[in-house]
Amino acid sequence: MRGKGKTAKELELKVRGFYYEDNQDSWFSRFTPSYTFDYLAFGRLINTGLYKNLEELRKYLKEATGYYWDNNVFRFSNIYGTEFAFSINLDKNGDTITVFSATSDHNLRNWQIVPGVVDEILKTADMFTMGKCLCSLCREEMKLVDIAGAYYGGRFCKRCWEEGYKGSEPMKAVEARESYN
Ligand SMILES: [Zn+2]
Repeated sequence: MRGKGKTAKELELKVRGFYYEDNQDSWFSRFTPSYTFDYLAFGRLINTGLYKNLEELRKYLKEATGYYWDNNVFRFSNIYGTEFAFSINLDKNGDTITVFSATSDHNLRNWQIVPGVVDEILKTADMFTMGKCLCSLCREEMKLVDIAGAYYGGRFCKRCWEEGYKGSEPMKAVEARESYN
C-alpha cells in the first residue's frame, strides 16, 4: 500500500489532496489553493490599495490549507468567467501587477499600478477571452491561434518569432539556445 492512510487524520489528509512521501517521511499537497476575486472585488482591491496586504492573505491561505509551496495563489475572473492569475510587486518606485493566463504559462502583461489601470487590465483580459493577445515584443494585437512561438511567459507573432523586431534577434533563435533539459 502506497503511503500511510490508516488513521482518521491520515484519511482526512488524503481526501484533502495530500500524499505521503515515504523517503521524506512527510505529507505533501497535490493541489494548489487559489483565491479568486470577481472583477468588482478585483477593482476594489487594486483601487483602494488593499492589494498591499495580499501577502498576509496568501500566508493565511497557505496555513489554512496546509499548502507547502510559496507559489502565487491569486486570481481574478472577468465578466465572461475566464480566470487569470496575477501577482503584485510592491516597490517604493511604484507597485506593479503582472497578469497571467489561468495556468500561469502565458504572461499577458505587466502594469504600473496607477489610476485607471484596472480598466486597462480588464480590457486586456477580455481580449484574451475573445481569443486575442498582444505580441510580447512588438505589442501588436494578434489572434491566439496565430502565436508563432513561446519563450517563458512571452508569446510572439510570426514576424517577431522568425525575423525579430526593429533589429533584434528572431525570438526563435533566442528560444533555440535554451536548454529545457
Ligand atoms: Zn510581434
